[in-house]
Amino acid sequence: MIKYGELSTKKGNIKFFINTLYRNIENKLKGYDVKISRDISRMYIEFNEKDLDKILKKINNIFGIHEYLVAYKVDTNIDSIKNNILEILKKESFKTFKVETKRSDKRFPIQSLDFSRQIGGLILKNIENVKVDVHTPELLLNIEIREHYTYIYLNGYQGLGGYPNGTLGKGMLMLSGGIDSPVAGYLALKRGMVLEAVYFEAIPHTSIEARNKVIELAKKLVKYSNKIKLHVIPFTEIQESIYKNIDSAYCITIMRRMMYRIMEKLVKRTKSQVIVNGESIGQVASQTLTSMQVINDVTSLPVIRPVACLDKLEIIDIAKKIDTYDISILPFEDCCTIFVPKHPVINPNLEDCIKYESTFDYESMIDKAIEERLVIEIIEEENHKFEDLL
Ligand code: ATP
Ligand code: MG
Repeated sequence: MIKYGELSTKKGNIKFFINTLYRNIENKLKGYDVKISRDISRMYIEFNEKDLDKILKKINNIFGIHEYLVAYKVDTNIDSIKNNILEILKKESFKTFKVETKRSDKRFPIQSLDFSRQIGGLILKNIENVKVDVHTPELLLNIEIREHYTYIYLNGYQGLGGYPNGTLGKGMLMLSGGIDSPVAGYLALKRGMVLEAVYFEAIPHTSIEARNKVIELAKKLVKYSNKIKLHVIPFTEIQESIYKNIDSAYCITIMRRMMYRIMEKLVKRTKSQVIVNGESIGQVASQTLTSMQVINDVTSLPVIRPVACLDKLEIIDIAKKIDTYDISILPFEDCCTIFVPKHPVINPNLEDCIKYESTFDYESMIDKAIEERLVIEIIEEENHKFEDLL
């Protein structure tokens, strides 16, 4: 049983949110024998008990779920409810408990409070060393009585929250091999965005291993989404021209302006709305407020920076939680790290940038890099169909 979270506050388009969540769950559970149904406050997935662990793992990675729990569906018949409750509780260990009954079918002959009391008595009689605690019970037994079926469930699991993937448009994520950008991607997905990712590489200065690392990171992110297209941009020519033509202090600033220009074109091509990246205020010279202003000047698109105000340690915590940290710290050089100048400007000047940029024909190089990009479809590995592997 799935309870929606923040969704329930989206009054106007709640149906759209629920339907999108439904499709996302359906997509993630492809290959399992399930029956999914929904109403305005809940979604129900019926499944084979043998798949329980795998299904819980999947559900745990889907945005838009506030709480989920394993509910037992039994006939609405007093004996059947009682017997099932005893069966279910035999598998649990607890010292204190509380019973809560909701009766949506008022034809059921016993009132909710009375029924809770009866069940409480039944438990005390049949299970040793337990007592009732109505304030902080270790185990909360819920009984929801409907016309034909009754749902019995225990404590729930907290879901990921956020909005269902695909309910809030599309962003292009600048995905490097570092720690910050996968976390930024995860947080953007949490807000319901669909993502495409862009990786700038400078072969032969960067290696194929560095690219594979980015692919591995994208695979971690795709667990929270349906699929991610990864655009690999050949950035060598632009980068070499920058280092040949431009004062070394300005190289990083100009390089990032070029990245943003490419991002803007890709956003338009892919009908996305925003750029997303892992910039964090003050982290490096290119992320001072002045640098951000000068770099951002090349585009009027919104740039979403989910980790802008987080400390590195806070970012690392999330990276560990989403399992990207160990990949991010693998030691392959990124195009940002290979040519790092000794003294990058901390407060770049916009006019100087424009003057430096006028010394080479970057427009045609940008178009060429975009034309020659490699597009890789990242899908969740287990979702590969068996036939695809043959
Ligand atoms: P770290 O986690 O080590 O800080 P980083 O990837 O955040 O690594 P930065 O130099 O801080 O590296 O870059 C800021 C942001 O710019 C990144 O979070 C990422 O969104 C984007 N970026 C940097 N290099 C690349 C690249 N080669 N390809 C795509 N995006 C990049
Ligand atoms: Mg960073």
